[in-house]
Amino acid sequence: MTRPPKVLLERVERRFGSSVALAALDLAVEEGEFLTLLGPSGCGKTTTLRIIAGFVDPTGGRVLIDGREVGHLPPNKREVGMVFQNYALFPHLTVAENIAFGMKQRGAPEAVRRRRAGELLDLIKMTGMGDRHPGELSGGQRQRVAIARAVAHPPAILLMDEPLGALDLKLREAMQQELRAIQKALGITTLYVTHDQTEAMVMSDRIVVMQGGRVEQIGTPSDIYMRPASRFVASFVGRINFVPLAADGRPRGGSASPLRLPSGVPIGSRGLTLGLRPEWLRLLPDGAAVNGYNVLDGRVTDSVFVGSHVSLAVDLGDGGTLTVDGRPEDALPAPGQPVRVCWEPERAIILHDH
Ligand code: ATP
Repeated sequence: MTRPPKVLLERVERRFGSSVALAALDLAVEEGEFLTLLGPSGCGKTTTLRIIAGFVDPTGGRVLIDGREVGHLPPNKREVGMVFQNYALFPHLTVAENIAFGMKQRGAPEAVRRRRAGELLDLIKMTGMGDRHPGELSGGQRQRVAIARAVAHPPAILLMDEPLGALDLKLREAMQQELRAIQKALGITTLYVTHDQTEAMVMSDRIVVMQGGRVEQIGTPSDIYMRPASRFVASFVGRINFVPLAADGRPRGGSASPLRLPSGVPIGSRGLTLGLRPEWLRLLPDGAAVNGYNVLDGRVTDSVFVGSHVSLAVDLGDGGTLTVDGRPEDALPAPGQPVRVCWEPERAIILHDH
């Protein structure tokens, strides 16, 4: 018999008055998985976590943990650990006491608590800091303590809502790696909420892209980036250019010749838009052969040195503009300079207009 998913949401709905925060959400979280809910503000990420934790009741649908419906269980009976953006540690307790707080409530003996706190301090790279108070810690250290506290009595599921949101960029990036390592070491099924697409990409086994209380796409980070299911996903995750095509394969409104499409896309399809990531585009050097590439002519309207690349805006003359990542070692083209933008035909996302 196959094991049920660790968490299963079936047609879960949540209304607040007449507004729908979640509309018939279906979601399966597998044992040991790191799954991230990603989407713009108000799309229903936090509501989903709070329903799983039991802080919010769904107005429709079912929540199952390990195959058992949990609708009737209060939060403290669901074996769920939560970490929020504002890591509410107890200021009057030491770090070790904070970490062991839940264990104490469950009646774990002092020696067991002390040993477990020591193990977790090693894991969060804060060995020997157990006697400090939260006021003596940096923001990143406090957040690591909050994570250690959430996993001290291992929960069946760890729910994290923007846990790194209050940290500056450098610390945030370091914590992304650490948090992922802790999650892997403990093997805890984790649901993570962020609106930061890079954070979702680097941390997750799978990403759920949400919009307006609905799931737009579920997939691995590379699925979501390379094969987005909709225009919304394509533009929410990473930078992208859209080139709408006429039925004959020419860019709509442009005078260019028909473009080659990725193999398997029927010629003559209507309602297609090409999605082109800026890093897939190149400027064709003067006099270079086109051999097999797609080419569009345009004029540079802007160029910005970013460090890892040069960001070029290229006006296609038909109302369309392409963003192209140039090589940083190349000279910045002057505004107005004519250029030819090229790409390999297979390097394109095909989006179907509705
Ligand atoms: P953010 O990234 O801003 O935290 P989110 O994706 O987590 O957003 P939710 O907090 O789940 O979004 O909210 C989803 C929708 O439900 C929003 O439109 C929000 O205004 C609404 N909502 C959430 N909680 C309540 C509440 N207690 N009463 C009324 N409306 C609510």
